[in-house]
Amino acid sequence: MPHSAVVDGRVRRPRLTSAYLLGSVLAMIVATPAAASAPAPTGGAVAGPTPKIKALQCRTACMGVTAGHIGSRVRVKGVKGKSLKRIDSVVFEGAPGAADDVSVPPLRAKKKYVDARVPRTAVTGPVMLVSTDGAESAPTPVPLTIDPTPVAPKSTAGGLGIDVEVQGNRVFYGAERMAQVSYLVRGTQPANVAVELIRVSDGVAITRWEPGDVPPETPQTIKWDGTAGGKVQRDGRYFFRVFATAASGATASSAQAPPTLPRAKAAPGSFLFQRHIFPIRGAHTYGTGAAAFGGGRGHQGQDTFARCGTPLVAARGGVVKFKQYHSRAGHYIVIDGDREGYDYAYMHLRDASLVDEGDHVYTGQPVGFVGATGRATGCHLHFEVWKAPGWYSGGSPVNPLPLLQGWDKTS
Ligand SMILES: [Zn+2]
Repeated sequence: MPHSAVVDGRVRRPRLTSAYLLGSVLAMIVATPAAASAPAPTGGAVAGPTPKIKALQCRTACMGVTAGHIGSRVRVKGVKGKSLKRIDSVVFEGAPGAADDVSVPPLRAKKKYVDARVPRTAVTGPVMLVSTDGAESAPTPVPLTIDPTPVAPKSTAGGLGIDVEVQGNRVFYGAERMAQVSYLVRGTQPANVAVELIRVSDGVAITRWEPGDVPPETPQTIKWDGTAGGKVQRDGRYFFRVFATAASGATASSAQAPPTLPRAKAAPGSFLFQRHIFPIRGAHTYGTGAAAFGGGRGHQGQDTFARCGTPLVAARGGVVKFKQYHSRAGHYIVIDGDREGYDYAYMHLRDASLVDEGDHVYTGQPVGFVGATGRATGCHLHFEVWKAPGWYSGGSPVNPLPLLQGWDKTS
């Protein structure tokens, strides 16, 4: 991504100076009575505790404490008193930038450590952890050195086998990175392959690919854009299942359809799909009373308080309809969501948005920072959601709070 605030694939949080903090304190003091109810954002109030990493250790097929192969088992140790039981993704970050990040579910998540298998598409770089509520650890200070030679596979006795791996344990519709499965036909002969994408909630195969004959021991990839039958699919867990038939008649498939959610999470090829991402990437608090939708004053959005400078991302990708400055709204943008009848407005941005009118943005793309420009009391995001035909063009606003809370829980 082109913006300088994005380092190593993530948005770097700006450091607040004491003069700056004093400024926001003064702003709170001189604020109008309505603002007195504005709660101060507290660290991790909603995002959940931030996982902390103490050490990284290669466990199997290692070339050193922090060096292994594709397929090595690695352990990330936590700090005392901070459980890692709620970790649901281990991210192999590779080189700076998100393009080569690979995230996998842990083999096991214990109080003191998390184990994961080095995925086939991972490259040398730091490792980080993401909890079920989306809180991210800092990357390991020492990178994991990955030798691209895979650990020798278990003998398939000349028979047929299938290895499956998803790139990204959590995937957003319209994000820069789509759901992607990488698979490998084990054995010595080519096999005819079919891949199905299965919705875990009801076991339905929603789409199918038929790549045909695939050579053995050669990684293949398939990408899913989040749609089936021309429709964006619902939020939830999905998994890729790969079937292979050799000329000899031997057949193999990746994991069976997992019947229940806890097992589905651990199934190879499984990932969580969501149509929106929570737009405020840091600690935040929902405003109430005058700061809520309606608010006894025809308030058309929901105010959510966060430190000025907290990164904002597009909750849903789409086209930037407006990027303007207004005496009340301050710096704001309106994005027409892709493939749905909603417009999303983000107001009081600290500066002019990072994106421009007419731009197409990805779900999760940085668009700016929380601020207090225009008529704002305290740093907050004023967020509006409008039904088609859209924002001040014939549509009407809906209460964004239930939507925000839903996205908040899962992203
Ligand atoms: Zn507002």
